Formats: sequence, C-alpha cells, structure tokens
Amino acid sequence: MKIAFAAAEAVPYAKTGGLADVAGSLPKELEKLGCEVKVFIPKYFLIDEEKHKLHYNWDIGEMPIRINGITRSVHVLQSILPGSNVEVNFIDCPHYFHRHRIYTNDVDEDERFILFSKGVIETLQRMKWAPDIIHCNDWQTGLLPLFVKDNYNWDRLFDETATLFTIHNIGYQGRFSTSVLFNAEIREELFYPNGPVEHNGTVSFMKTGIVFADILNTVSNKYSHEILKPDLGAGLDGILMERKEDLYGILNGVDYSIWNPKTDEYIPYHYSSEDLSGKIKNKRILLEHFNMPFEVTVPLIGIVSRMVAQKGFDIFSEAINNLMNLNAQWLILGSGEDQYEQLFREIAHKLPQKVGTYIGYNNELSHLIEAGADMFLMPSRYEPCGLNQIYSLKYGTVPIVKKTGGLADTVHDWDELISFGLETGTGFSFNHHTGYALLTSVQRALNNFKNKTVWKKIQLNGMVKDYSWKHSAEQYIELYRLAKKKRG
Ligand code: ADP
Repeated sequence: MKIAFAAAEAVPYAKTGGLADVAGSLPKELEKLGCEVKVFIPKYFLIDEEKHKLHYNWDIGEMPIRINGITRSVHVLQSILPGSNVEVNFIDCPHYFHRHRIYTNDVDEDERFILFSKGVIETLQRMKWAPDIIHCNDWQTGLLPLFVKDNYNWDRLFDETATLFTIHNIGYQGRFSTSVLFNAEIREELFYPNGPVEHNGTVSFMKTGIVFADILNTVSNKYSHEILKPDLGAGLDGILMERKEDLYGILNGVDYSIWNPKTDEYIPYHYSSEDLSGKIKNKRILLEHFNMPFEVTVPLIGIVSRMVAQKGFDIFSEAINNLMNLNAQWLILGSGEDQYEQLFREIAHKLPQKVGTYIGYNNELSHLIEAGADMFLMPSRYEPCGLNQIYSLKYGTVPIVKKTGGLADTVHDWDELISFGLETGTGFSFNHHTGYALLTSVQRALNNFKNKTVWKKIQLNGMVKDYSWKHSAEQYIELYRLAKKKRG
C-alpha cells in the first residue's frame, strides 16, 4: 500500500508536541509492515538542512502555487527518516515558512497551511505517484480531503486515492474568516450555515477534514467517544455524531528506539526492569542540575508539558498551596501561557529546595526528567492520547493522571485495582477535574511510595507494558483498507 503522510511537524525535524512524535515514528512502522510511505511536512526556517541532510529535488524543480491570488514559487527538499527508508518531503516556500515558529498568530496562518496542503498534492502530481491513502493529521491538513475530492478531482491520478483524517486534538480547529474561500480557491457553494466548510460563521479546516475524509480517527479509543459529546467535542460533536460510523480510535504507539531507559541517548545512567539501580543515579544528577537537595525518601514528581489550561494547570494552580505542603519535590519543564509560566517561576523562587522549573523547550531535559523522577503528573482536562504517561510507564516513573482520553486507556489505578484484589495497577488516577481530586491522588501516590515493595511492584507493572507502534500500525493499515473501500 502507498501512503502519503502529511503533518505539520515530525521528529526529528520540527516538534512542538505529540503530533511530531507520531509523524516521526508511525511511518517507519508502516514501512516495516510493507507499506511504501512518503512523509510531507513544511520546510520551516528552524529545520537544520545540514544536520538532517536535506537535498533539493531537481526532478520536481519549481512548483508555482497560487494562494490568495498570488503565485508563489515552491520547491521540495528531501531527506530520509532516520532508522528507515521512509522519504520525507519538505514543502519549501520561504515566504510562508521562514518564520521563527512552527505555528504563528500571523494574519496569513491560513495561507501557510493552504500552501502546504496544495504543495503536497502538486508534489504527488509531479512525482506521478498515486497514493492509496493520503493520511492527514489535524487542522493544518484538513483541507486536503476537500482538495482531493474537489479542486483536484480533474486529475485521474487521484481517482483511487482515499483520505484518512486523524484528529490529534479537537481543541485546535484552524478557524478563519471567509477570505479562506478565495485564498484556497474553495467553491463558495460549500460555505453556508452548517455547510461542509462552515462553523459558526468561519471556515473551519478541522470541520472540512471531518466532512470530506473517507475515514476518521482519534488517537485513543476513549477520546473517540468523548468528542461525540458537547463537553469535549469543542463544538464539533454534532458533525462528528453524523460521522460516528466512520470514526475510530487508535492509541498512539511509542518509539522505543528513542524512549527506552535501557538505551536512551540523553540519560547518564541506563537501567531496566531487571536492574533499576541507574534510576536513582539519574535522580541525583537531575536534582544537582537544579541545585536541589537529594533525599532518597522524598519523592520527586516530574511534569513535562505545554503550559495551557488543557493540561490541567488550572486545577494545579487551584491546589498549589496544598501540593507544596506535601513531602515531595517537583521538577517542571514547559512553556505556554504567561500566567502558568509566571506561577512556576514564582514557586521555584520561593521554594528552591522543593521546586525546580525550566521554562522553555528542552528535549534532553525531558528525557532526564522521565528517567530521574519517581512520579509523573498529567492532570489534563482532556487528553487525546498523551505520550508522556506512556514514556513514564517504561521509565518506572509512576504516572498520576486524570481519567480522560488516552490517560484513562493507558494508566490503571493501583488502589482501585487493589480493592478488587488485583495487584496490576500502574499508576494513580482521578475522575473529577478539581484541585481536590488531583491533591488526593498525589497523596495516595505518596502514601504508596513509602512502601518500597509496593512501589517497586507498581513500577514494574508499568515497565513491562508494551505500547510499541506495531499493533497500532496494524490497526492503521486496517483503517486504510476501510478508507479505500469507502472511496470505491
Ligand atoms: P501534546 O501533543 O498535547 O503537547 P503529548 O503528551 O501528546 O501532548 O506530547 C507531548 C510531547 O512533547 C512529548 O513528547 C513531550 O515530551 C514533549 N514536550 C512537551 N513540552 C516539552 C518541553 N517543554 N520540552 C521538551 N519536550 C516537551
């Protein structure tokens, strides 16, 4: 099967969150299962051409693409996804992508991803490569299913090309003014109240993807049900209900060649479920790094996250005084909304022995926190899949999570299972999105931490879990087959 995989970010080239992890690892696994995969991402300014050995594709040369009535000159650079033979195509248009961030609030944000989507199609045309599936991811690629079925349906190359649209986060929808219709050359008849591209008076890229893709999925089973209800459907639950029969949930896998304490290239001491001794050495190094005292009996709780309300920083703030009174240390890595960045800077300043904060993005440190912390906190309001809790399981870093989306699908509460006589729990979890519920879960984790035998059992339960991509990639191939069937 031939798969064109389009996403706005991919590891190791450009990353802001979990989408990049998925785009950098699922294609490799699909290749192992016999698919021919070509990945497409924009050529952002921050992508290091030399380091990643990008080269110009002379066969394609210059592609003129018209956006907002202006013809832009677009080129394609290529590379190979490390550890595979997967070809990565970088859609290069300096006017749109030579900016200092992957996502911007610039007035032409819509145009940037219209150009990317058209660039994917135009590249496929010049390659004369007809994919069985264009696998689209999130709103940035939401117009692709429409383009295949409408703008470019004159091209027989795509007659048998089906589309799968994966929703990684329904909270980010790519909604813009009606100027998108002109900018992207979308037929005006498609825009009317509750019409296929319209959402509350705006053009919604996410809704367009949902309406026009042959098959839809989200990145965990639970989230695929949650977004059908108003509470987490973010206004799109109605349209999703209409496509309920075509909506699936596939849990993201983990690339254990990158996230494994046995081999992790960023951590000083390797360890495994057979020998955990390296973990505590990493903890010592991590605390030293933040000038914090090391105390074996005091648990260290890690957080690595975008600092936005979705990730539960609202309830963390609510409970902060009580949380800081607990006998625990905290290491927080992240960036995002000012109010949360400010809050964590302040507590680190006020309680330097107890709290370490790094505001910003730091891949190496994220690995060291996974390896050195005893527990990992993810109190998300909603979580489509979540990756850090899955990394945490492998690193023996016991997750404390809210029971939502992928967090609920991957972390099983120790105390709850014990009440059924089962010693199979892998973490601690809570239901209600309140500071109190979060606090009591952390307290339960701290109580269990005091019992070394119990704690080790919880750690090992998580470490032996296997969330590698193989199983999920097989499920994606099933969806590709379904999408092909739908396309007819
Ligand atoms: P989301 O995609 O919603 O941000 P996920 O849990 O799916 O959440 O994925 C987040 C990914 O981004 C993880 O790989 C995590 O380690 C990484 N990450 C998030 N914030 C940072 C940061 N400040 N520094 C380094 N890595 C980060």
